[in-house]
Amino acid sequence: MKCEDILIFTDLDGSLLDHDNFEFQDIKDFILKCLDTGIKIIPNSSKTKIEIELFFNQLGKELPYISENGAAVHNLDLLNANLKLKDNSIILSRSIKEILEIFKTKVPLEFREKCDFIEDMTQDKQMQTLGLNHKYLPFALNRDYSLPLIFNGSRKLIREFSLFLKSLGLKLHEGGRVFNICDDCSKGFAMKSVVKKLRTELKSNPYTIVVGDSPNDISMLKQSDQPCIIPLPNKDNLIDLEIKNIIRAKKYAPKGWEEVIKSSLKKININFVG
Ligand SMILES: [Mg+2]
Repeated sequence: MKCEDILIFTDLDGSLLDHDNFEFQDIKDFILKCLDTGIKIIPNSSKTKIEIELFFNQLGKELPYISENGAAVHNLDLLNANLKLKDNSIILSRSIKEILEIFKTKVPLEFREKCDFIEDMTQDKQMQTLGLNHKYLPFALNRDYSLPLIFNGSRKLIREFSLFLKSLGLKLHEGGRVFNICDDCSKGFAMKSVVKKLRTELKSNPYTIVVGDSPNDISMLKQSDQPCIIPLPNKDNLIDLEIKNIIRAKKYAPKGWEEVIKSSLKKININFVG
């Protein structure tokens, strides 16, 4: 297999970035080394466009990426210059305004009163909930396609809420820190759209490695050639997920990311010192 055919779709928070402080310095050189070999890395995150671009600033490199839980795919020319797309993006979601309108008019009070939207919290509570400081908070709040919230209810009620949203054509995504109400899109569907484009338009046959840590990563883990899971320091995450061939990191992010990528590459006979 050629490195150019390898696509790594990766979650960011808790998977590539440290769950608590969002750091990745320890694996920065390894990431750059992967990119140098021709391997493509595609962040697929619940983060906003601007938050992911800040990550690229720290990395010193722009990458193709998927923002807000599969709502939009950007920078596709960086995946392959021959991909022809309007605005270089694929938008898979309705706007946040439309999603909010559906929520306000169609969701019964018994669910609505359990929703504590990040947008409505005090700034201190927002920072505490998202684990962000003054500098980074505004970038996380600048959302185009999703409504982050805390849901104050039992697991049973969460399941019922999720099913109700589904009946409205919306989705409830569970990330490492908060829930997000989104359009009927997912990280997995967005990933599939990218892979399909490469297969149909460029006749290429990519090998996909997926790295995730939370329920909102399951849709993409399920359709990868090599699924990888990173443990979280504060909870038993995805421990019951049964997918064939999973590689589970022993270490937390960011080192766990390097660990699973090295193991994944080794399985397909690609070895390089990183
Ligand atoms: Mg995560």
